[in-house]
Amino acid sequence: MPALSQRITTLNGDGSDGWDVFYRARAMIAAGVPVTELTIGEHDIGTDPSILRAMYDSARGGHTGYAIVPGVSALRDAVAARIEAQSGVPTSRENVLITPGGQAGLFAAHMAVCSPGDVGLIVDPYYATYPGVVRSAGAVPRVVATRSSQGFLPEGAALEQASEGAASLLINTPNNPTGAVYPRHTLQDIADVVTVRDMWLISDEVYDSQVWEGAHLSPRALPHMAERTLVIGSMSKSHAMTGSRIGWIVGPEEVITCLVDLATNTTYGVPGYIQDAALFALRAGAELELQVAEPFQRRRAIAERVLAKQDLVRMIPAQGAMYVMLDVRATGLSGEGFANALLDAHHIAVMPGESFGTSAAGHVRVAMTLEDSQFEAALHRLCSFAAGLAQAA
Ligand code: PMP
Repeated sequence: MPALSQRITTLNGDGSDGWDVFYRARAMIAAGVPVTELTIGEHDIGTDPSILRAMYDSARGGHTGYAIVPGVSALRDAVAARIEAQSGVPTSRENVLITPGGQAGLFAAHMAVCSPGDVGLIVDPYYATYPGVVRSAGAVPRVVATRSSQGFLPEGAALEQASEGAASLLINTPNNPTGAVYPRHTLQDIADVVTVRDMWLISDEVYDSQVWEGAHLSPRALPHMAERTLVIGSMSKSHAMTGSRIGWIVGPEEVITCLVDLATNTTYGVPGYIQDAALFALRAGAELELQVAEPFQRRRAIAERVLAKQDLVRMIPAQGAMYVMLDVRATGLSGEGFANALLDAHHIAVMPGESFGTSAAGHVRVAMTLEDSQFEAALHRLCSFAAGLAQAA
């Protein structure tokens, strides 16, 4: 076989991706072993039937041919209106490209702002695909380390140090995996650094509807930031539409024009009936989004209550998204060691913090994607398991 490209063979870096626990849990489930699955960010509900009806009606109505590449105008308008209402920044359809999900948006954004060999910054701990998405654009990922004691928020000095010579910075608020919602001062530190270094900011806001404390603030809303910020959005988390693959990029018109060229040569748009369903969902208003987000808020309160009963496992304060990060260092185990042992002993699957970089070593991420009482029971078992480990140590 002829050689494959360097780009594709090096996509996963050194190959140690920390996903062993996840695959082991999947194998146990496939072998018929019941496993309490708290690994990935998939809702425990499906897409609302009213959205599915809109999808069906659109497809039956004939919207099954090629859709216009930048996205259906009415949907671009609806996304622009949503973003403008949220951020106060004037936004029109020319600022919006509809993409097949947030992930495709992350890829396209890096393709637009990173040349081969450029450095693309990511904040550690990071969502699992971030290093690969930077590499897939031919750029080199460099991490900005954060600290558990600081709620995993990026700090000014670390940002400044890491950003020397970088072309872009990718941030995510509300954050996966930490649940952090970046406060204004953190976003201002970020804005200052990317402005001084004349960098692009790529702001992944796919969890914008899941904020439990305070409010979601987009860095695009800060002074002079709209001209150097690309916002990534998605219907996956806000409307439980993960499988529909629909999202967007919002940015300066000149960038969107270039991205339409990229889309013409890659995705060739998003199916029309999916776009119509997304439009229906956005027009349905905040009620539907609240309905999708509410279980995670409830379960975060459950997690706080359960974790408060002991002081061995520390919960990193989470203000948003569908995860909580737990510090298990007091057990003496790494996050990976703890997650593997928990899977063996109690058939509970959580993600090791090491899956998300090095800053969250000794932590595990728990997805709040299980019905309340089962979620609570799993957390009780996790805490007593940790107590047993600490006693034995
Ligand atoms: N960004 C973050 C932080 C995520 O957690 C995810 C999905 N888990 C995505 C982007 C991609 O989401 P999608 O492609 O489904 O919109």
